[in-house]
Amino acid sequence: MNLALWLDRHARADPSRTAVFVGASPWKSYARLAADAASLARGLRDKLGLAPGDRVALVMANSPEYAEILLGIWWAGLAAVPVNGKLHPREVAFILENSGANAVFATPDWVRGLAEATTQLDRPPDVIEAGSVGYHALFGEPMAVVPVADGALAWLFYTSGTTGRPKGAMLSHANLRAMAQGYLTDVDRVSGRDCLLHAAPMSHGSGLYLVPYLLAGAAQVIPESGGFDPAEVFALSAAHRGVGMFAAPTIVRRMVEHAAARGPSLEGLRTVVYGGGPMYVADLLRALDVMGPRFAQIYGQGESPMTITALAKDFVNDRAHPRHLERIASVGVPQSGVEVAVRDDSGRDLPPGEVGEVCVRGAVVMSGYWGNPEASAKSLRDGWLWTGDLGAFDEEGFLTLKDRSKDLIISGGSNIYPREVEEALLAHPGVAEVSVVGRPDAEWGEAVVAFVVAREPRPSTSELDAHCLASIARFKRPKEYRFVTELPKNNYGKVLKTELRAKLL
Ligand code: AMP
Repeated sequence: MNLALWLDRHARADPSRTAVFVGASPWKSYARLAADAASLARGLRDKLGLAPGDRVALVMANSPEYAEILLGIWWAGLAAVPVNGKLHPREVAFILENSGANAVFATPDWVRGLAEATTQLDRPPDVIEAGSVGYHALFGEPMAVVPVADGALAWLFYTSGTTGRPKGAMLSHANLRAMAQGYLTDVDRVSGRDCLLHAAPMSHGSGLYLVPYLLAGAAQVIPESGGFDPAEVFALSAAHRGVGMFAAPTIVRRMVEHAAARGPSLEGLRTVVYGGGPMYVADLLRALDVMGPRFAQIYGQGESPMTITALAKDFVNDRAHPRHLERIASVGVPQSGVEVAVRDDSGRDLPPGEVGEVCVRGAVVMSGYWGNPEASAKSLRDGWLWTGDLGAFDEEGFLTLKDRSKDLIISGGSNIYPREVEEALLAHPGVAEVSVVGRPDAEWGEAVVAFVVAREPRPSTSELDAHCLASIARFKRPKEYRFVTELPKNNYGKVLKTELRAKLL
């Protein structure tokens, strides 16, 4: 079943209801959005000559067209490749090439960068600036929603791989349907009068949550800033009422600081769903003190989008419960549509209290990585997704994550794979050896630290910084460099990152 049918149905049943707002102003009704998605779909099929299954990338900041393009792509039976707009053009070029995207929609901030990045590609895709004259020229005679099979690709979700190469998790219409139904059952009830505020990137969690809000017939609200600004979030909550949003722990912290200092009205803010990285207990308690009972947690990953466990509001808010602190330190209980197990390396189920790898099975789990059967076979074994996260269940069924797949750094809610940063630094002639680890950081969750064995003449940190900026995204570059004479290694010559991390504590 095509997810775009939900748009079509709401447009028929309640045509005048606003589907998308920009700030506090209505942008398009359900009827208008459906008609325009249908016209865009026609253009994609007939003018760009795309066929079902073809991939269309979105390299865009949050904008109202994001919703229209995503839905137009699905309406046409095509697959979307949302790309993180904070990546380096070279990283974006890799994703475009890897996904074989035939067309790319870009916001103005990306149009020029994309033109440069795509000239390197064997088959440069068409680049269309969202909202431009050329964009509107693409619209054709509205077409009916193209029927697709449940397993048809809807969203290629690029996560970074431990090898530093991003991998595209293949998410089908059925995967996203399971995610949406699970969200409304386990995480948060949403009515047609509510809305989703996109303060986090729509290429990731926030964009995925467009789907349950669409299912509920609710509205999408795109902040005028196109990103996260705490004052704007509170102002829009007051303007709209019934506001839900997805926020990484870093964003929650900034909202709490703002609320504590300014005391804005919180009335319209219904739910903040946090996840994507660890939330410290002290931070959540303060968030509850300052902002009240508005929080729910999810644990998921691109391969099982937003859906492994959830800690619903009732658990978060039950401060009188004798195990409240343990519960909010956990990621909650399995969501209703999935089985979750904790296993040892041999695949044996571990009892409560024992730490192993978190495995998940259910309708939400991806079918594999795009064009990467080896990585798929490693992650998907016997019908289960091996998440790479380590955790343990307690006797009451709450899962606590002990560590992520060991070396991954999560800073400000974004995944940073050390290997990628290491490779970038090693390309500098002054760097002989390097190892990158995460240091706990009150603001960002973790901060990137590089241990560098330098060659003479020793490069300055600003030189290394500039070097990183030339090849990887800004947010991935180290916040600190430590020059050492050698790296600690085991007798196989492998760097002992645990020792490096211990040095930072
Ligand atoms: P991504 O695929 O980019 O969504 O990253 C997923 C990873 O983020 C997971 O495998 C976990 O390591 C981590 N993660 C997601 N949600 C949580 C959470 N609620 N608490 C702690 N870590 C999380």
